[in-house]
Amino acid sequence: MDTAFLKKHEDKRIRKGHLWIFSNEIFRIEGLPQNGSLIKIHDADNRFLGTGFYNKNSLIAIRFISNSEIEDLKDLFYKRILDAYNLRKKIYPSRESFRMVFAESDFLPGLIIDKYNDSFVLQINSFGMQNNIHLIIEILESHFKAKNIFSLNDFYLRKLEGLPEDNQVYLGQLGTEIIDDGSAMYKVDFSKSQKTGFYFDQSDNRFFIERLVFDKTVADVFCNSGGFGLHAIKANAKSVDFIDSSEREIENVKLNCSLNSIVGKTNFYVDDAFDFMEKSYVAQKKYDVVMIDPPAFAKNKKSLITAKKGYEKLNRLALSIINEGGFLVSSSCSHHIKKEDFLETISQAAMKTGKSLQLIHFSGASLDHPKLLAMDETEYLKFTVFKVNNC
Ligand code: SAH
Repeated sequence: MDTAFLKKHEDKRIRKGHLWIFSNEIFRIEGLPQNGSLIKIHDADNRFLGTGFYNKNSLIAIRFISNSEIEDLKDLFYKRILDAYNLRKKIYPSRESFRMVFAESDFLPGLIIDKYNDSFVLQINSFGMQNNIHLIIEILESHFKAKNIFSLNDFYLRKLEGLPEDNQVYLGQLGTEIIDDGSAMYKVDFSKSQKTGFYFDQSDNRFFIERLVFDKTVADVFCNSGGFGLHAIKANAKSVDFIDSSEREIENVKLNCSLNSIVGKTNFYVDDAFDFMEKSYVAQKKYDVVMIDPPAFAKNKKSLITAKKGYEKLNRLALSIINEGGFLVSSSCSHHIKKEDFLETISQAAMKTGKSLQLIHFSGASLDHPKLLAMDETEYLKFTVFKVNNC
């Protein structure tokens, strides 16, 4: 097998458990490894470190897989997928739908598997995983009773790896599933949905907001499948307004409301979130609880400044339509915006609107999105809940 020798000291991060070796950290390569092939990794003193997937197209030249030599890749994949699955079943014993594999966080670099009953949706974001995807399919078929397997890839990440922008059906068909999150039910139509179909990362946080909403008026802004609002109604909110710029998503929320036998108490708006909140402010229409969960504003470090401005404006608008003593529920899924930056942005928004905020809850993604402690890159979602005061 080909071997990569790292520069001096570049083994430190890897020894701590980080899984990426960047191209500028490699001193030399012995052999002619193909993109996506396995490669042995040695430190500058020629000590064996482990085995990874190689990709010369990517800044992440090697994705570390194991600290030993790999004899049977399928067996290793199976053990890791099973470990990841068992962790989810421990946390959510009665659920059949969750993020089953969260890439690096589950030691399967570049592979996301979302399980929706018997349908499995893959995001394949590394060359090595793409080359070996048949092994993953075989495992899902033989050990996890998969009926449908297909990829709904994140093309931005695939581009960085030099992978083609395509989605594939590996088994069965791209259909629909009705899933539940332990309380609410959702229809997921994979041929029309965003990302891999459902935002599992907010699952636990949807349960959290149930504690705030009894008899309150609620706005679920950027609602997508309406998870936050559905949980609010289940927890006896007075009313919920659902807002999303996508007509398809709003139609899906209506469907989800009927799936959950929800009648009345709801309003639906296909609108831009900024415009909607501005119009509400002008009309002096206020809510007790406003929840905002926008798509990532900062895709990379370059867009940080603009992204922060966007978050500030959004939180300012939300604060301007919250009743005294109400709650702001504000999320950010931009990895590049750190916790401190995000809180500072909201603090600026509070100052500009003359509000005093009490942070009553700070959290991240649901438990099926573990963070690999040695890899900050595996953490992205920030979920905050503030009580809003005029004093
Ligand atoms: N809160 C959701 C996830 C939000 S994902 C949940 O719990 O599932 C972000 C959503 O914002 C998407 O549904 C997308 O259609 C919507 N969106 C993107 N830009 C928007 C805009 N400018 N105004 C309103 N909605 C927007």
